[in-house]
Amino acid sequence: MKSELADMAMDQKRTILDGDAPDAVPVPHALVPHLDELAILLDIDGTLLDLMPTPREVWVPPGLSETLKHLTERTSGALALVSGRSLNDIDLIFAPDVFRAVAGHGAEMRLSADNEAEAVHAPPLDKELKRRLAALAKLSPGILLEDKGYSLALHYRLAPHAEKAIYEAVSLVRAELPNAPIEVLPGKFVCEIKHSGFTKATGVCELMKHEPFKGRRPIFIGDDVTDETVFAIMPDMDGLAFSVGRRAMGVNGHFDAPADVRAFLARLLDPR
Ligand SMILES: [Mg+2]
Repeated sequence: MKSELADMAMDQKRTILDGDAPDAVPVPHALVPHLDELAILLDIDGTLLDLMPTPREVWVPPGLSETLKHLTERTSGALALVSGRSLNDIDLIFAPDVFRAVAGHGAEMRLSADNEAEAVHAPPLDKELKRRLAALAKLSPGILLEDKGYSLALHYRLAPHAEKAIYEAVSLVRAELPNAPIEVLPGKFVCEIKHSGFTKATGVCELMKHEPFKGRRPIFIGDDVTDETVFAIMPDMDGLAFSVGRRAMGVNGHFDAPADVRAFLARLLDPR
């Protein structure tokens, strides 16, 4: 069965890659018979959910949670959300439903969907560093500060003109603290500063070592710069990578918008 799936995936890759590449979208019916050999890994913002002016305004469209729950059943639990958001934040968005997840760019993980959540917490960011970075929210009205403990995000969708000033100021702070083990993650209208040493990719690698993900072929869908670390490791795991909104480097195909991802997931359950 494994080699059959491998052949299918190669055919799938050919189908996707032989066509007009910028329009290549995954073919759900080719994957349907193999759902129980797949691990479905999904970014949230800009992939499952439409982006909103602020991160707190996102909402889960009708039917999406049901689709995710049914796909979780059909994959024997091998469905996980892979997000920069904290686990707590993810649970608030999808409440009352709880999904397996790699959260906080790999800082947190939940391997079982029941309430006995296992979380791998990264160390909190240094207080002084956090204080200096938090002060950058004053660069312009509209910059929203989000403190995840292990990272700090500056959201500037409401103040796009402040982008250059934010990155310059963050560089200055980093220059003053050259030994701080931190890195800057640029995203869509967000600049996030976090401990170096974990990424969405390290989180996915860890996740894939555990049941029910272990030994399965991962399919990852993501939209942002931080998802590129996961796109890059999919070939090592014999996986398939799809980007949303643009054709990212090294992906097998792409979706135009989150609505297309949601439709694709629904068709995995009901290919008619
Ligand atoms: Mg995203």
